Amino acid sequence: MIASDLETGRGRLAELIEAARVVLPFTGAGISTECGIPDFRSPGGTWAKFRPIPFGEFLASQDMRDESWRRRFAMEEQFAAARPGRGHRAIASLYRAGKAPAVVTQNIDNLHQASGLGADDVVELHGNTTYARCLECEQRYEITWVQKRFTDAGRAPDCRCGGHIKTATISFGQPMPEAALRRAEALTRSCDLFLAIGSSLVVWPAAGMPLLAKRIGARLAIINREPTEFDAIADLVIRDDIGSVLAPFILV
Ligand SMILES: [Zn+2]
Repeated sequence: MIASDLETGRGRLAELIEAARVVLPFTGAGISTECGIPDFRSPGGTWAKFRPIPFGEFLASQDMRDESWRRRFAMEEQFAAARPGRGHRAIASLYRAGKAPAVVTQNIDNLHQASGLGADDVVELHGNTTYARCLECEQRYEITWVQKRFTDAGRAPDCRCGGHIKTATISFGQPMPEAALRRAEALTRSCDLFLAIGSSLVVWPAAGMPLLAKRIGARLAIINREPTEFDAIADLVIRDDIGSVLAPFILV
């Protein structure tokens, strides 16, 4: 069912949440746009301007690592200034109320953690760009540290162990995070309301999760400005601004 207007949609969503035992929020770029984080895949987004650097090229070339880090530093002001939006705060309220055990996200902006969810309860399918790790020994590095070393040396630094340091994101061509995928699937199997927010649900594995939820008998609600592949099988579709839809669900 596609909600005819914002009020109807919110009312129906409140009923679905009330009736659910376990809600699993699944979030994409749309939840963070009001926080000043651009949707990288949208027309005019970063990926439209720059060809993404595949993982293999990052590994193979110092120039590509330098370029990758220069692009990341150019975004630092936006990522550092971003604060959780109304959607993040509504999910944090469900989490605190014991309705939502965790959130699964395609976002890399750390805003669910910033809204109060435990780091272990944010399942990140594409990693996290607010810190970096050594690709060999997994030592964590802060972005400011990498930036200072880059500025001093004029090139992207490597780890003490000799491994390359990369933001903790999953790049094109990089293996998917198996543990996060397994956790996302287990969470999907255990929910009775799958709440997709701000994702077009086209990128695997995001595309498989609403189907799995429906197959195990969960309800499916989709909040997204644009139509998605799964609107036809959803129990509720709200095509509206995410912050406006979820604002009433914020409990202080
Ligand atoms: Zn290392």
